[in-house]
Amino acid sequence: MSCKEWEPVNKSDYRGVWVYIETDEGSIKEASIQMLSVGRNIADKLGTYLAGVIIGYNVGHLAKEPIFYGADKVILLDDSRFHPFYSRVHGQALVELARKYKPEVIFIAGTMRGREMAPYVANSLRTGITADCTAFDVENGDLIQIRPPFGALMLARIRTPNRRPQIATARPNVFEAPARDESRKGEIIEEKVFFELPDPGIRLIESRKVKKEEIPLEKAEIIVSGGRGLGSADGFRMLEELAKELGGVIAGSRKAVDAGWIPHEKQVGQTGTSVKPKLYIAVGISGAAQHVFGIREAKRVVAVNIDPGAPIFENADYGIVGNYREIIPLLIEEIRTRKKEKGAISP
Ligand code: FAD
Repeated sequence: MSCKEWEPVNKSDYRGVWVYIETDEGSIKEASIQMLSVGRNIADKLGTYLAGVIIGYNVGHLAKEPIFYGADKVILLDDSRFHPFYSRVHGQALVELARKYKPEVIFIAGTMRGREMAPYVANSLRTGITADCTAFDVENGDLIQIRPPFGALMLARIRTPNRRPQIATARPNVFEAPARDESRKGEIIEEKVFFELPDPGIRLIESRKVKKEEIPLEKAEIIVSGGRGLGSADGFRMLEELAKELGGVIAGSRKAVDAGWIPHEKQVGQTGTSVKPKLYIAVGISGAAQHVFGIREAKRVVAVNIDPGAPIFENADYGIVGNYREIIPLLIEEIRTRKKEKGAISP
């Protein structure tokens, strides 16, 4: 069945690569900066411009930042109606700007907000979207969106052959941020709200600051991570002790998050955070593809698992087969002894 809304568009009507620049509390999210390096690369391959799109309130002071990080221009939509963030309102603004300027590609960082907003934008524009990409390329003028399919150890190459813009997200830390260069110059286009804003559909009643981990997961050099094998939230107390001794932080698998033993922002993996520590200790984690995806940048992986056949051992540099309740106290004791002997320990 063909639907008029989804009929092929004239691709030559669309030009430019956009990166949606997410802001929060007066600063730009690092994940959006990282997307600018992807955007620059693809814009160069397509021989077109790269724009950062900022939608928010009191965000004018950030307008030059995307340019310092590689954009040729910035589209700025600064209006009090964009506070607080509502994905439907911000999403609609991006949709309307895209209808007006017709970019061929829109990149959105796969943050909590980005993941909520991107499908709304793609659906409203009746175009395709690929979430959680790990690489991009260009072939015959189409963006090639590369990502592992769910649960499979292979890479899918996805394209949006008939519709524009082509929309893709990538999770934080999958790409490196470009270098900041304050000497770069570019154009800043100040936009107005020329369209009707939708009802957000929800209301923010109260916002409370979550006590932030001293070292965020994506920047931690040492991570001690627990899975369903811990058996209960109590198991994490033991991991916290080990993490403290090593100067690291704790994290967990999705099963540990689903069980309510650890908050979602601590989840490592395909639908959690991608981490790149010097040392990753996986305790009671089986090593499912979706988990391993999040630790592929870890320098050293140590696995503690009671089952010698657990797949995590295939992805570990060191493996300890045994009950974590016996192994972890031994590790803590060993580290304390070595600290006393040698001073600080480094990964
Ligand atoms: P299990 O697979 O149940 O493994 C528990 C392990 O603990 C076992 O290997 C067992 O031998 C061991 N164990 C048991 N008792 C002990 C003991 N006393 N001492 C030592 N070891 C012990 N998962 C993620 O982690 N992150 C993601 O981002 C993620 N995204 C997903 C996205 C999709 C679309 C899907 C379908 C799944 C996703 N998952 C994700 C889930 C993933 O497939 C696995 O189900 C999950 O990672 C398993 O968690 P686990 O290893 O803690 O639990």
